Amino acid sequence: YLTSVAAVDSRTSQNLGWRVVVRQPVETALESAHALRNRLLALGLVAALVFGLVARRLARLFSRPIEQLADAARRIERGDSAAVFPEKTQLIEVDQLGQSIQSMTQTLLAHERELEAVNATLEEQVRQRTEALAQANRELEHLATHDPLTGVHNRRHFDDRLEGCVAVAQRTGQGFTVLLIDADHFKAGNDTHGHATGDAVLQALARILSANTRAIDEVARYGGEEFVILLPQTQDGETALVVAEKIRAAIADAAFPGPGHMTVSIGASVWRPADPDASAVVERADAALYQAKAAGRNRAVLSE
Ligand code: GH3
Ligand code: MG
Ligand code: MG
Repeated sequence: YLTSVAAVDSRTSQNLGWRVVVRQPVETALESAHALRNRLLALGLVAALVFGLVARRLARLFSRPIEQLADAARRIERGDSAAVFPEKTQLIEVDQLGQSIQSMTQTLLAHERELEAVNATLEEQVRQRTEALAQANRELEHLATHDPLTGVHNRRHFDDRLEGCVAVAQRTGQGFTVLLIDADHFKAGNDTHGHATGDAVLQALARILSANTRAIDEVARYGGEEFVILLPQTQDGETALVVAEKIRAAIADAAFPGPGHMTVSIGASVWRPADPDASAVVERADAALYQAKAAGRNRAVLSE
């Protein structure tokens, strides 16, 4: 490596017009330049490190609260009402945003809870009303089909059951029996002991009739002091008469309020395939009842 220097007169400072050339090794000649380059490199590295750290710190400062915000929002979306938004971060805007979202979320959750409570109340009210309606329907159904004094079925319900029995009989040939039961000399009992006692006697009669029939049998108050019994599985006159006699005897043996003693007359009739309609079998039972009365009462007569 050559270094040339222009020769100058030190006294006059005049260029002497010739050059002094010094020969040196490259390392020696560029030593100061290399030192400068190394210093610059080191400085650059330190600067890069410092900038990196600052950038990292700044990124944490900005992005972490926003990530926490997003995370809290996601938890709220999943229904976690305990999610907490970041507070007291270095960024006042993020703090404000977090507080706003937090308060909005609390308001929304409070409304949601209110709605749930209102819904639950409404559902409970609907359940109670539905139950009350069902109960009212049951009571209405009971009123429509039962006799209020004696508690047994009324004539309307008996007529329905009778139609059903006729339909089954016509389809399958399986007959049934109708017993018409009329209290003997009831008017006299009423006149002697009063109407209220007469009512109690009718109630006692209904109880005895129910107690002496099966669950499939239908006991109904036909009107006044008359009752009717439908025996769906009794198809022959002999059995019908046995059942009627059993009922008559049970009443004759029972103790009653007022007169203390009571008898009934019974007309029995079995369905016949030739019967034109449901009333035919009842009319025959009525005729048999008339015969029982005429024959002296307290007896059961099977229709011819
Ligand atoms: P018979 O032996 O011929 O049947 O004589 P009876 O007196 O039983 O028959 P009648 O038809 O002459 O009288 C029926 C009586 O039943 C008249 C009526 O006041 C009474 N009666 C009808 N319904 C009720 C009721 O709900 N309560 C009371 N206490 N009496 C009633
Ligand atoms: Mg009568
Ligand atoms: Mg009577």
